[in-house]
Amino acid sequence: MATHRGECFCGAVKLEVSGDPEGMGYCHCRSCRSWSGGPVNAFALWKADAVRITEGAEHIGTFAKTPMSERQYCKKCGGHLMANHPPLGLVDVFAATLPTLKHQAGLHVNYAETVLPMRDGLPKFKDFPAEFGGSGDMLAD
Ligand SMILES: [Zn+2]
Ligand SMILES: [Zn+2]
Repeated sequence: MATHRGECFCGAVKLEVSGDPEGMGYCHCRSCRSWSGGPVNAFALWKADAVRITEGAEHIGTFAKTPMSERQYCKKCGGHLMANHPPLGLVDVFAATLPTLKHQAGLHVNYAETVLPMRDGLPKFKDFPAEFGGSGDMLAD
């Protein structure tokens, strides 16, 4: 079973994920943009029990603007780690947190809010797929 290790910007927090992600893609929402400082968030969704903090759990801070996303970061360096999505039972350990993970995007979500259109032929969801509580509406590539 594949294991990927990641850490925060300063290295105080270390984590690992095992197995394969449940899904990968890009989120174009305003919240991800505002929090990350980047135009999109490359996400990789894992079952909660596939994610393990191996060092520095005491340095992890959490901020939840909405109940959907508990955004987790290192309190020492401010580096971003992951976002827990309790309603989905999934954790987005950001692709950027896991250098050895080959990020193979399967879809785009919250594309209605994009500032960086990506014409890559992948499905573009206006918000989220229906199985993730969204409208399931699609937008043109
Ligand atoms: Zn740190
Ligand atoms: Zn987002």
